[in-house]
Amino acid sequence: MESEALIRLSSFVGALVVLLLCERLWPRRPWRQLRIQRLGINLGLIALSGIIQRFTLGAAAVLMAFYAQQHGWGLLNLVDLPFWLLLIAGILLLDLAIYLQHVMFHAVPVLWRLHQVHHADLDLDATTGLRFHPLEMLTSLIYKVLVVAALGVNPIVVILFEVILNVSSMFNHSNLRIPASIERWLRWLIVTPDMHRIHHSVHRVETDSNYGFFLSIWDRLLGTYTNKPKDGHETMLLGLDYAQQPEKLSLGRLLIMPFVVSPRALNEKK
Ligand SMILES: [Zn+2]
Ligand SMILES: [Zn+2]
Repeated sequence: MESEALIRLSSFVGALVVLLLCERLWPRRPWRQLRIQRLGINLGLIALSGIIQRFTLGAAAVLMAFYAQQHGWGLLNLVDLPFWLLLIAGILLLDLAIYLQHVMFHAVPVLWRLHQVHHADLDLDATTGLRFHPLEMLTSLIYKVLVVAALGVNPIVVILFEVILNVSSMFNHSNLRIPASIERWLRWLIVTPDMHRIHHSVHRVETDSNYGFFLSIWDRLLGTYTNKPKDGHETMLLGLDYAQQPEKLSLGRLLIMPFVVSPRALNEKK
């Protein structure tokens, strides 16, 4: 599974460098916090999650895909389909599963405790896309292994989807200005930065919408789509309404955040 890790790492570094450069050239919003400080925190969380993943479940989803294939487990292993169809079905089903997982992370209070760390960023850039609490990352990994076993997704498709999801997440969190005429069309298929930014609004009603990470179709089909933020893209406030002070969002504070969240925050969730 060394090559799988290498593919993931190189797609991460490649997309990150390109997006950080593009954000600098064509920013959508002014930065609120000192960029270098946020990059340190976000890359710290990403590195910590990566290290924990490496020493625990690692490539578990891909290994499960191989195992399911050999033993005929899961929906897609029960039917004899050409590879191109397995590819399309696999990507659609995995993306829907990730969408549903995201809805659960907002709806279930104990999961929201973990997921709020992703939402605590006061600015958004490419690094926010992979900045999750290590426990959320581990929970997602276990969920992904179960989904892959149940669906019987082809191992190549699992690797490809991981790369697509990571690059897509970095893209739709980036502070990138895309010409409106292109953005409008792009958004019919994939989640754009303007679409996902609404999900990071301080207003709960906007946060609980636009859950997609790659394809935008699930939000449109399942009634969770918000087209525009009510406060405007360039002036809307990002982050959690109950955690707006940058000094309370250091790497250490973010790591303990799931255990010390104010009850007010959870009450507001209901
Ligand atoms: Zn969310
Ligand atoms: Zn996000």
